[in-house]
Amino acid sequence: MFGRVRCNSPLETTDPSPISQQAPSAAASHLLSVHSRRAYQLPPPEYFFPPPTQVCGQSFYANLINHKKELECREQLIHPCSVKCLSDQFRLQFILFSGEEFDMAWTAIISPVLVLWFASLCKVFHESLSSSKAAFLNDGAHPRRRNVLLVIAHPDDESMFFAPVINYLISRDHNLHILCMSTGNADGMGSLRKEELYLASAVLKIPAQQVKTLDHPDLQDGFGKAWNWNLLASIIEEETRTHSVDLIITFDNYGISGHCNHCDVHQGVRKLLQDASGRHLEAWEIVSPNIVRKYIGPVDIWLSILFSRLKKDGQSYCLLNLDLRKSYAAMAQHSSQWVWFRKLFVTFSSCTYVSTLKKIE
Ligand SMILES: [Zn+2]
Repeated sequence: MFGRVRCNSPLETTDPSPISQQAPSAAASHLLSVHSRRAYQLPPPEYFFPPPTQVCGQSFYANLINHKKELECREQLIHPCSVKCLSDQFRLQFILFSGEEFDMAWTAIISPVLVLWFASLCKVFHESLSSSKAAFLNDGAHPRRRNVLLVIAHPDDESMFFAPVINYLISRDHNLHILCMSTGNADGMGSLRKEELYLASAVLKIPAQQVKTLDHPDLQDGFGKAWNWNLLASIIEEETRTHSVDLIITFDNYGISGHCNHCDVHQGVRKLLQDASGRHLEAWEIVSPNIVRKYIGPVDIWLSILFSRLKKDGQSYCLLNLDLRKSYAAMAQHSSQWVWFRKLFVTFSSCTYVSTLKKIE
């Protein structure tokens, strides 16, 4: 019942039956009572298992270590108390081992992440203070001011996904227009979200007259609502002609979040490029990061820089966010969407810190 326990006492035995069922001699009973008083007066249970809030405290660990040493110095006898004593020892050893291991593993993981996160933020801030070395739309000593059209699906897409691109274009004095294909009326807040887009655009230094939000019956916000690519292409083409746009920026075929409206906007731009093959019209897509890179915040800038340098064909550019505070303030203008999980997304999403643009062929 109690198993075999090593001991140096005259009472040592390998008999597994409990001692209470045996008939000990008078001498043995005397020795047992002496040992019981001396060795098996265990502290109260709360000494070993304090409330959870104290488990991680240093004083609790110190007490455990001291008492563990004390226990190791005692003799072990075959007695119900000795079994409890041993089980407590094993339990203590487990608690101490797992607690220390946990602390070490936690420190080993968190410390490098924090250092890398801080270094990445320094890189972003350094880039914003120095003149950007990105060559996107850089035509040499006298760069041409371009009329650029950013095509998005919903209000807030511009601040949540395209902030590095917008800040870069505005800093280079390009003429940026935004075409938002819906009011984002999935929750019945379309008119409010439309206003929020204008507020966010003002923060991003895009004039209100260069922002257009559609409320087309066939282009309503929502999962599962497919948008017609031909319709999208014709609307975008009309907008490019109105503002003499020769460069379009939009989502890629995954749309960063995988939202079907984002994907349809991409396909609409592709359709336009096919239909207007005779026109000088180029289009760029923002590359969707994979699930790991998407949530490592500024750390992803190193991978984005590396991959864009590996591709020296002029078809891919990495743009760091030149003004993090501005993009954060712009997103905050979307007050109907500015809930805790979007705040977390904006903080931890790599899209806040870096964008990779790829030319649509
Ligand atoms: Zn969207």
